[in-house]
Amino acid sequence: MRLSIHTFKQLQPWKNRRTGTMLAVLALFAVLGVILIRASSAATYTVGIEAESGSLSGNAASKTVASASGSAAVMFASSGAGGGGGTGAVSCDQAGIQKMVDSVSQQNIQASLQSLVQDDSKPTPNELISRHVSSPGNQIKVDWAKKQMTDYGLEVLNQPFSSGGRNLHNVSARINGTDANSLYVIGAHIDSISEKSSTQAPGADDDASGVIAVLEAARVLNGFKGCLKSTLYFNNYNDEEEEMNGAPTFLKAVSGKTVKGAYNMDMIGYAPSQECLKSDVGKSSRDQVMAQKIVDMNTKYNVGLPVTTGTYTQNGGDDLEAFWNANIPGGYLIECTTEKSTDGYPGYHSTKDVMKNVNLGQVTKTTKLLVASLAEFGMQ
Ligand SMILES: [Zn+2]
Repeated sequence: MRLSIHTFKQLQPWKNRRTGTMLAVLALFAVLGVILIRASSAATYTVGIEAESGSLSGNAASKTVASASGSAAVMFASSGAGGGGGTGAVSCDQAGIQKMVDSVSQQNIQASLQSLVQDDSKPTPNELISRHVSSPGNQIKVDWAKKQMTDYGLEVLNQPFSSGGRNLHNVSARINGTDANSLYVIGAHIDSISEKSSTQAPGADDDASGVIAVLEAARVLNGFKGCLKSTLYFNNYNDEEEEMNGAPTFLKAVSGKTVKGAYNMDMIGYAPSQECLKSDVGKSSRDQVMAQKIVDMNTKYNVGLPVTTGTYTQNGGDDLEAFWNANIPGGYLIECTTEKSTDGYPGYHSTKDVMKNVNLGQVTKTTKLLVASLAEFGMQ
């Protein structure tokens, strides 16, 4: 039996005139469930509804582990919390992951990009905000991203730190697997920079493109919660363009746990000629596994994004280095046309880093690759 939280919410207003009908529907579901259990050779059967942060936002899962042949089939219903997730019932296998990959929404990604670059106090659309650490826009957009994660049903963690005399916050949210000590992480940086950092630094490609991929992957993967063994973290690091203290702050917060792998996206939107993603290898063969996974997912789930592998060349220039320095396997995803340090992107670190330079198809497909990779890793 699958009882999604979405269904549950609809059934909540008991005083509603349709109560009778709804109760009848609920009763029907219950009866069907009992019949199904009896008809199957179910080894275990659980229905769990947990409330997080005082709301029914996250964890409704009904699992059936049953198979005559001995292979486990686990089905669960995603929450659809806050208009966020909602890929419907997803199975914990390739078909379920394909369903999630297909549900990655370019429309959502575009809307998130617009929200990150605009100054909400000005007429929209505009690209007037700065998310530089010296600008009020930094905290405004951190708060916005936190709210997105909450609306998607994730557990949002408070992760403050001080850097360069400023009090800053990361955005860090998680989807709990059954093992709280086994972690996979994806991240991008939410701060931006330009020649007018205090007033206007839209940072559409650098690195709103990465942030919107993290947000959309979080939304979709929350629908996979019932399948996860490892716990997934979705991070928007702050302070990358200045002191790079955001990523180490996250690592401190999870010290004592095992981070099995991390992806970082920094500039994944620029595609002047054709869509293309580079999946970089860092320092070890374990990084190769992370990079190769992205390539494999592209074929396995028919994503259709040209992906090349390369070697990371920006020493001292990205959040992922904190992970590599901690001996954590890492994969670095970047548009094919540029490495930041070689400045191949004409809008790089300027007020010209605007939305029209971001290829939404490329970001959407990159997000699909992340969703598939994290789903497969997360089941381990
Ligand atoms: Zn960047």
